[in-house]
Amino acid sequence: MVVQNESLPFEAIYGVPMLISWIVTFLFCIILIDAELMDRKIRNGIYVVTIIWGGIIIGGVPNAVMPIQQFLTTISLRSESSYLLPAIIILIVLLASSLFVGRIFCGFACPLGVLQELISTVNFKSDLKEQNEAKYQIKVVSSFSKKIRWIFLGIVILLALLSIQILPIFNPFPGFSVLKTPSVTTIIISFIVLIVVCVASIFLYRPWCRFLCPFGAGSCLCGQVTRSKYRRTEDCTDCGLCEKICPTQEAARDSKKGECYYCNRCIDICPHDAIKLNLG
Ligand code: SF4
Ligand code: SF4
Repeated sequence: MVVQNESLPFEAIYGVPMLISWIVTFLFCIILIDAELMDRKIRNGIYVVTIIWGGIIIGGVPNAVMPIQQFLTTISLRSESSYLLPAIIILIVLLASSLFVGRIFCGFACPLGVLQELISTVNFKSDLKEQNEAKYQIKVVSSFSKKIRWIFLGIVILLALLSIQILPIFNPFPGFSVLKTPSVTTIIISFIVLIVVCVASIFLYRPWCRFLCPFGAGSCLCGQVTRSKYRRTEDCTDCGLCEKICPTQEAARDSKKGECYYCNRCIDICPHDAIKLNLG
């Protein structure tokens, strides 16, 4: 079985504005976080704009998984794809952002990431009392979800080497295009996957990002090595509230923050305002 994604080619008319808007979003968000202006209302506003722009208007393509899918297409078809150059440019820009300041793309610029983030607020709270009362929350340790993500990526690459592409079946991003092109089978399959991811996000924090996203695997590695990340200041009293509220166990003092999605739950709960972005 060879599944291609030729029904959703890279189109410069969408790709170039998307790339520019990603870069603008990175800079805008870094400035807001650094100036300590990224409150819940502004965050939610950015999430909604990202979903409307990158999801509904642009249609989810290009996205962070597209470059990997193009590489796999090249591997499985043993031929060069005309979309390889734009894919390389997109991957370089997105990984550079992760190398500079961790999961900033996932936190604010990815329509699928922010959609899951918005839905997660049903069960993953910034308030410890509400959090303890959240009944349907499935907690998964990040060391486990990261392993699953690498195993999935390994299987996807292995099958691509055998000329079998399964990523288009699982990739939810083209599902955003259902409003633009409602009749293509690939998009309808992706739309169903997108709905499944959305429903799962009520119970599991960012299921696609943490368990399956191939870009997430690379971005996590980059996020671990960057020096620019949330760090506790000397005002921290080690009360541990941030660690209790963080859905990915990344609020510990010595955490590498590879799975920190800039959700800001730790900042919202800290009574001493002791977590700041350290632009290293
Ligand atoms: S991990 Fe993947 S899906 Fe999640 S926010 Fe990042 S790029 Fe988007
Ligand atoms: S460390 Fe803070 S911002 Fe990062 S994921 Fe955890 S709670 Fe969210």
